[in-house]
Amino acid sequence: MDIKSNIEKIKKETGPSVTLVAVSKTKPIEDIREAYEAGQLDFGENKVQELTEKESVLPKDIRWHMIGHLQTNKVKYIAPFVHLIHSVDSEKLLKEINKQGKKQNRIINCLLQVHIASEETKYGWDENELNEFLTSGRMAEYENIYIQGLMGMATFTEDQRVVRNEFKGLNTLFNKLKTKFQFPNLSMETLSMGMSGDYALAVEEGSTMIRVGSSIFGNRNYNL
Ligand SMILES: *Cc1c(COP(=O)(O)O)cnc(C)c1O
Repeated sequence: MDIKSNIEKIKKETGPSVTLVAVSKTKPIEDIREAYEAGQLDFGENKVQELTEKESVLPKDIRWHMIGHLQTNKVKYIAPFVHLIHSVDSEKLLKEINKQGKKQNRIINCLLQVHIASEETKYGWDENELNEFLTSGRMAEYENIYIQGLMGMATFTEDQRVVRNEFKGLNTLFNKLKTKFQFPNLSMETLSMGMSGDYALAVEEGSTMIRVGSSIFGNRNYNL
């Protein structure tokens, strides 16, 4: 199937209340244009250099999502335009995003990435760290940050029960934080979970934003 039909199929399956972020990492400009022509405006990338290169040549109404691990020394390159950073995995990073947001005179939208998978390699906060941070009152210092929710990546496994449980746990945490913490610059509205292999499960478990690459653009070839 072509890119347009893939997007339409996913949108039909997940319904109007779920935002589809088309993950275009490793994919050429032409593929992104094709998706854009089909009405897709949200795109996700996981590398700063690739993201800025693509942003510089593509239409300015595209909303760019940073979904990959972000090093503090690279925040400055995306701060002028990034729409949403999904992968805020530490306060150190939050601090840097705030600093760069101030320089650009803009508020940068962020999600806190929560570690829900069993793999050590995945990044993110755990529940205790989040509670400690949000109770501390330090959010008030981050005037150029707006935290609009959480992001999580499930364990890479065929076992649907494991994946479902991780999504369920993240949704529970999301709802807990929503009732417990409200700040002018934090509100739990967006729950980013679900990729090509598990977005249907994620939506069943309360996802409001899915990040889908290969089911739209086809498999990635990292050896090109
Ligand atoms: C690559 C990537 C995706 C999309 O993966 P697919 O399986 O191709 O849909 C989603 N989220 C993150 C953080 C990614 O790095």
